[in-house]
Amino acid sequence: MTSWFQETLYDHWRQSFQISAELCRLRGPMQDIALFETPGFGRVLTLDGVIQVTTGDEFIYHEMLAHVPIYAHGAVRSACVVGGGDGGMLREILKHTSVEQAVLVEIDGAVVDFCREHLPTVSAGAFDDPRTEIVIADGIAFMAETDRKFDLIVIDSTDPIGPGGVLFTESFYKDCARCLNFGGIVVNQNGVPFLQGAEITDTWRRRKPHFTDVGFYLAAVPTYVGGFMALGWASNTPDSRAASVETIRARFNAAPVTTRYYTPDVHKAAFALPPYVQDFITD
Ligand code: SAM
Repeated sequence: MTSWFQETLYDHWRQSFQISAELCRLRGPMQDIALFETPGFGRVLTLDGVIQVTTGDEFIYHEMLAHVPIYAHGAVRSACVVGGGDGGMLREILKHTSVEQAVLVEIDGAVVDFCREHLPTVSAGAFDDPRTEIVIADGIAFMAETDRKFDLIVIDSTDPIGPGGVLFTESFYKDCARCLNFGGIVVNQNGVPFLQGAEITDTWRRRKPHFTDVGFYLAAVPTYVGGFMALGWASNTPDSRAASVETIRARFNAAPVTTRYYTPDVHKAAFALPPYVQDFITD
């Protein structure tokens, strides 16, 4: 008999994955963590019934949230990942030899332990990289209390339901702005505009008072169904988002990383927003 996992993210629309095996399930103190083997997407990690990562297409999401800001900035030395307990974002950030330090602030230590054991190809050794520091804490409390500053903050969070909700608030964005070096960039997963367009409007309004440059770019990640996924962008200078494709290409050629989705041309093209997405950017 064929088994299916049905995601419960939306009330009015569901996606299902055929599963060959349920590999592991842990009812952690904060979240229900499960791992499935699937014929179509490889291993699929879910938290409270919502898909977080599949080994089939995670490269698209992780490459676009790491390499776009890093090449746009040009000299990222310090990075902070908020969420990201699977380790995929760390893996991509640490491909850059310019990065001297990467702090992972994850609220649920059980996710890190689970992924280290059952999903090792996603982190690919990043948890043990000497440049990595793992902090088990709520991202909103960490950002409110720390006096550290970063060139890059990647908010690799769950959707704005459950513990991830605070990572979409204005007070969190204000603290992120305070924790950026000059020229620093904040990026985040900002939902699928066709289904979660209000997330773009909310992010725009909550960030605008605290950053010089606020924008969005797009990536097509099959797992996050409903069309393009929006990735949020905020910086204390407009220069990095405006960097030309020639500049990005020169930086990429000088310090290349192996990718399967990201290229300098994809980088520039990702900032072209169709009108139905642009319409959500409104005061
Ligand atoms: N790529 C994924 C997605 O968009 O579906 C996100 C993956 S990553 C596993 C999300 C992580 O954010 C989870 O491990 C979760 O525990 C963590 N998280 C949620 N709320 C958080 C918070 N307030 N502070 C820090 N980490 C948080």
